[in-house]
Amino acid sequence: MEDLFHKLEHLTKVALFDCRDCGDCALIDVAYLCPMSQCPKNQRNGACGGSFQGWCEVYPEKRLCIYVRAYTRLKKHGEEEQLGKDIVPPCNWDLYQTSSWINYYLGKDHVSKRRNQQDTHE
Ligand code: SF4
Repeated sequence: MEDLFHKLEHLTKVALFDCRDCGDCALIDVAYLCPMSQCPKNQRNGACGGSFQGWCEVYPEKRLCIYVRAYTRLKKHGEEEQLGKDIVPPCNWDLYQTSSWINYYLGKDHVSKRRNQQDTHE
C-alpha cells in the first residue's frame, strides 16, 4: 500500500514539479519550485551567491536563478517576505526515494519538524 501511494505521489510530482524523489520535500520553501531539479546545486537556502543579474552561474543567460523565479512568483501575491523566513536544513538523504507525504505525516521531514517546533513555542 505504501509503495502504491509513493508511486502515485511521485508520478504526480514529476509531472507538476520535475520531482527527484528526495523524500524531504522543500517545495513549500521555494515557492513550489523543486530545488532538487531546478537548481543545479540543489540549494535550499539560496540564492547561492554565484548568480549574476538574476542568472544561474551554471547556466548564465540561459536559466534564471531558482530564487529569482521564486521571488517573482511570491511578489505577485505580496508574499515575497516568505522567502528566507526559515533556515532550511540540507536534504535528509535517509529519506531518499521514500514518500515525502508519508514522511510529513510521520513527522520525519524538515517541514513537519519545523511545524512541531513552532507549535511548541506558541
Ligand atoms: S523537493 Fe524533493 S520531494 Fe519535493 S519535489 Fe523536489 S525532489 Fe520531489
